[in-house]
Amino acid sequence: MGLKPIVIERGKDVSNRRKDLGLLHREHIVNPDSNYCFGEGGAGTYSDGKLYTRSKKRGDLNRVLDILIEHGAQLDIRVDAHPHIGTNKLPKIIANMRKTILESGGEVLFDTRVEDILIKSGKAVGVVDQNGNAIEAVSIVLATGHSARDIFYLLHAKGLELEAKAFAMGVRVEHPQPIIDKLQYHCEGPRDKNLPSAPYSAVEQINGRGVYSFCMCPGGFIVPAATAQEELVINGMSTSTRDSRYANSGVVVEIELEDLKPYEKHGVFAGLEYQKYLENAAWNAGGRTQTAPAQRIVDFTEGKMSSELNDCSYIPGIQSSPMHEWLPKHIGKRLRKVFKAFDQKMKGYYYTNEAQIVGVESRTSSPIKIPRDATTLQHPQCEGLYPSGEGGGYAGGIVSAAIDGEKVAEAIAKNLN
Ligand SMILES: Cc1cc2nc3c(=O)[nH]c(=O)nc-3n(C[C@H](O)[C@H](O)[C@H](O)COP(=O)(O)OP(=O)(O)OC[C@H]3O[C@@H](n4cnc5c(N)ncnc54)[C@H](O)[C@@H]3O)c2cc1C
Repeated sequence: MGLKPIVIERGKDVSNRRKDLGLLHREHIVNPDSNYCFGEGGAGTYSDGKLYTRSKKRGDLNRVLDILIEHGAQLDIRVDAHPHIGTNKLPKIIANMRKTILESGGEVLFDTRVEDILIKSGKAVGVVDQNGNAIEAVSIVLATGHSARDIFYLLHAKGLELEAKAFAMGVRVEHPQPIIDKLQYHCEGPRDKNLPSAPYSAVEQINGRGVYSFCMCPGGFIVPAATAQEELVINGMSTSTRDSRYANSGVVVEIELEDLKPYEKHGVFAGLEYQKYLENAAWNAGGRTQTAPAQRIVDFTEGKMSSELNDCSYIPGIQSSPMHEWLPKHIGKRLRKVFKAFDQKMKGYYYTNEAQIVGVESRTSSPIKIPRDATTLQHPQCEGLYPSGEGGGYAGGIVSAAIDGEKVAEAIAKNLN
């Protein structure tokens, strides 16, 4: 299209980012610019790399898969019903994509955090980084993800409209993988060696809200996904072989705008404040480090502190906590009902003290939407500013974020002509 994009990234390139993830695991140090959410490739780089999307109608899924394959993803993602890349393969693919951007005349700036947006006569004309350097541009794609709270605050301070949106929060549940294999493959002993670690998905309506499994990682690991000190956020991922001893999945409760009444004084930030409250509560319950609070499923449902915990894939460690006491009622009460309900559909395998919950799974999607014009895709109050991806509320995963990114790039080319 003849455009020369500058990718502005607050975090580090994939290799240096990995070192910060090591520090997070071993020393519990959260680097606010380099972590599981921030750094080259975004939240998808050290993720599971599941490539399914419910938004197939929004764009060309196969085109996204082909771009991933061109940059090193395995061919089978083009034919698998549930394509998956794996956290071990993604960083190399992302580094190859950087090479393509550079070879095509683009630029990539690392360690460069956008702290301001330059607006002249209602038009975005550039950004300013943390060192006060201005970077001029004819259009700005704002694709900063669901965890860049500073960007939401910045837009609000500049008088640009934001909207609160529904989202979901809960916990991550971890079972020994053989339990899920037995459930899905009906095998008594270990699963057949030709079969992959089995996944599951489950959804229930509990007291008027959906409660559902989210980002299930068969043969995976639970990881610390906080982006600041004094918060604890967890997520899940797996390698391409999905061969850990554990099966983990988020189990989250829908949070509608009407559930945010206690936070309404925060206006459009009500959901974000609720998220912050829960993440800080988890951090306190875990012992004010990245050690996560945990409780066995039956103990949690029966309202008993777990006297002991099971082995867990979460490297910073877990600590027994009465999560039935401190999880907000809106979430805790529904979770205490849902595990038995899931168990009924999963033939008595799910509800067992061999499984435990680990808290909290709070970043399933953005609690805020950045509005944009349906045709030009620009913010209604700011020409040249294009909200995109998960942070703006236009995507919910790797593939839908990619599809939305392409859509925005095409809109820019069209609007500039
Ligand atoms: C552990 C984990 C596992 C996941 N597993 C899956 C999965 O298997 N499948 C799936 O579909 N999705 C998964 N996700 C979700 C998926 O990664 C996101 O939906 C997707 O990455 C969203 O893409 P995005 O481009 O909109 O935003 P992001 O990927 O969040 O990218 C935002 C980028 O903006 C940068 N940034 C933020 N603020 C600034 C600033 N002020 N200045 C400069 N740069 C900034 C960040 O560093 C980041 O690189 C997972 C997420 C995590 C954390």
